[in-house]
Order: sequence, then structure tokens, then C-alpha cells
Amino acid sequence: GMHIEVVNTGTELLLGTTLNSHGAWIGQRLMEQGLRVARQTTVPDGEPVKQALAEAIERSEVLIVTGGLGPTSDDLTREATAEAMGIELIEDEHALRVIEQFFANRGRPMAEGNRKQALTPCGAEVLPNPNGTAPGVYVPPRLGKGSPCAVFLLPGPPNELYPMYQAEVPHRLAALANLDADSGMHEMKFTGIGESDFHDGVDQKLHQIAGLEIGYCARPGELDLRLIGSPEAREKGRAIVLAEYADECISEGGRSLEETVVQLLTDQGLKLALAESCTGGLVASRVTDVPGASVVLTHGFVTYANEAKRDVLGVPQGFLENYGAVSEEVARAMAEGALHVSGADVAAAVTGIAGPGGGSEEKPVGTVWISVARRDSETITFKAFKPWGRDVFKMVVSQLVLDSVR
Ligand code: ATP
Ligand code: MG
Repeated sequence: GMHIEVVNTGTELLLGTTLNSHGAWIGQRLMEQGLRVARQTTVPDGEPVKQALAEAIERSEVLIVTGGLGPTSDDLTREATAEAMGIELIEDEHALRVIEQFFANRGRPMAEGNRKQALTPCGAEVLPNPNGTAPGVYVPPRLGKGSPCAVFLLPGPPNELYPMYQAEVPHRLAALANLDADSGMHEMKFTGIGESDFHDGVDQKLHQIAGLEIGYCARPGELDLRLIGSPEAREKGRAIVLAEYADECISEGGRSLEETVVQLLTDQGLKLALAESCTGGLVASRVTDVPGASVVLTHGFVTYANEAKRDVLGVPQGFLENYGAVSEEVARAMAEGALHVSGADVAAAVTGIAGPGGGSEEKPVGTVWISVARRDSETITFKAFKPWGRDVFKMVVSQLVLDSVR
């Protein structure tokens, strides 16, 4: 494939005060086109940008740079690119007028430094920035006597970068890669199956499909599969996977489990209530990450103490005393109590031992009970064992709860 590199500039990225999310975001956008990043470099503002760009341009067919288009003296991306490519920097008249207009529209005077933002490698394209002053730049390959590398210079602020990327980058990449316009990616998410079992089940068969690239990504309680290739190759791969793991498939096309659950309940016109102990509201938080969750979610009870389970959900004191908070009886009473108190159609409850303390021989750390009560059918209650440390435990258990509602 095409050799693509990404350079992210910004001192804050190396100080660790800002996470370099642009690197990941651009990687994902490229993957959507069946392209990938060969190397990603992070450099502080100022002089180091020059060397990083020169080296990356030397190696790459496409270089995508973020940040350093600002008006200050350490914003050197334009200069560094022009220098590395042997192209003269000139003031782009149209770009300057757009920047002047940006300030005029806001009734603010333009600082002299902003003039610099109109500097463009001669012959390069200026990429409009409706959300800020710094226009982007596209240097096509072999500009003048220049390098065979195509270079995109994109702004650092996310609200400027994302729309500019979407509007300006993918179609140019597709042309550069001379991609099969129909080569693309199909994403499938699975839960309730381990990565190695999944691999054993389908990997060999998938590898027999010509022109299909296969990518796995294992997360807590979830396995993501990416199939990249022509529509025919993708469809063949999809059929093989679904023949084996249809029940475990949470979604296709990249939807998360919480999105799937909200969509499903919305379609069915059902209301959901949650009663959480050991997940501390994580399930409700994930559900409310989904736009439109208000159509579905009525209540998220976090009943951590025994008294809360008793007083809020009506769990009988005798259950708590005789069976303990982490028990089939209490999980069921929590779910049925939540259903009753909320008036929802479905209620899911979870109670477990996240650890590190609180375990016993009979109920070791990682023990969890989940129960789903429905207005129109029998309550289903089941046990799981996920002794994987607090963070992973909470995430995996929240997967189990959401999956049980599905
Ligand atoms: P431009 O000059 O193009 O506006 P810049 O690099 O000068 O970009 P900054 O002021 O450095 O802009 O960054 C703007 C905001 O974007 C800051 O909050 C910064 O932390 C954030 N940002 C920049 N690069 C990244 C990155 N790679 N990942 C996440 N956030 C980033
Ligand atoms: Mg910056």
C-alpha cells in the first residue's frame, strides 16, 4: 500500500499534558479508506519540526501534519515544509483576504502575526478553515521540481482539524492511491467470545479469501474485527464469521454495544431501568453516552450499600442477611425492584465483588450476578466470574449487563 506518515506537532503532546488524540483519529479515518499509517512521529513545536518533516517527506508518499499553523514564532510547519520540499513560500492573496475577513466578521483587529498564516508553498492548494484563522495546505506530489510526496498541513485545534480533514483529505487520498473506489472496511463487534477462540474458529477460512485483509482488536469484554477489501471479499468474510458467531455479534458497521442496545429498545418502544452495585453507574453512563438515550432510559440506580438496595429497590432485608449482597436472590430482587419502582419495561441489575478485597472462598473476587427483569416475561438471572482487577472488571461486567438486555 501507499506509504503514509503522520507528524503531530505540539510541545504539550510530549510534556504529556495533552494526549495525542489526533494521531489515533487520523489513523481511524485512514482505516476507513483501507489505508494505514506506516509511521507516526510526535515532535515539540519549533526547530524539531523541520527535521521531522524533512525525514518524513523523504520516506513517504503521503505526509499528514497536524498543528503549528498558528501565528506565533514557534509555529513552523509551513516554513519547514517549504524548506524540506525546496519550494518557495509566498503570501497567498486569497488566503490573506479570508483571514482578514475572519477578523472583520468578528470586529477584531488582525494581528501582524496572522499575516504569516497566509504564507503558502508556491503552487500548493490552500484548504479553507471555516472554524479558525489558520488555513490548511495541500502540497500535491511533484510540485515544481519538488518531492514525490504529497503533504497535508492541518490545524491543531480539533474543531478545526476534523471538519477540514473530512472535507479536504479523503478524496485527495483516494485519487492518490488510485484506490479501487469500492475498497473499504467492514467492522464487526463481538462479545462473549475470547480472541483466541474466535481466531481458531474463523481465521484460517478468512485468510483463504483473496484480497481480504483481516484485523483484530481485543478490548475488555469485546472483540472488534475489521475486514478490508472489495465488497465481494468483505461479504464473503462476513458470511464466514456470521456462520460461526452470529449470536456473539453485537453490531456491524462500528456501532458500540450501548448504541446497539439503545437502538434496539427504541425500535421496540421499551423503557430501560438499571440497578447497579459493583459497576457504580458505568452501565448508565455508557447508555447515556448515546444520543437519544433519553427515549429509552428512565432510571439508573446506583445502590452500593445494602441499605440502598433495601430502601430504594425493596430488596428484602432477609435476602441480604441470608444470601449476601452478591447472590442470585439479591440480583433478582434488585432487577424486579428496579422494574417496579421505575415503571420501565426492562430492568437490568448487577451485583458483584470487584476486589481487591471482599472476596471469600465461596464468593471469590470477580464473582458477579446479573439479572434482567421484563414486564412481559420471566426474570433471567445468571452468574459470571471475571477476576481481572477493578477497572477491567467494571468494563467487562458492564458489557455483560448491556449484552443481557440485547
Ligand atoms: P494551529 O496553529 O494550526 O491552530 P497549533 O498547533 O498552533 O495549530 P495549538 O494552539 O498548538 O494549535 O493547539 C490547539 C489545541 O489543539 C490545543 O488545545 C492543543 O492541545 C490541541 N491539540 C493540538 N494537537 C493535538 C493532538 N495531536 N492531539 C490532541 N490535541 C491536540
Ligand atoms: Mg500546536
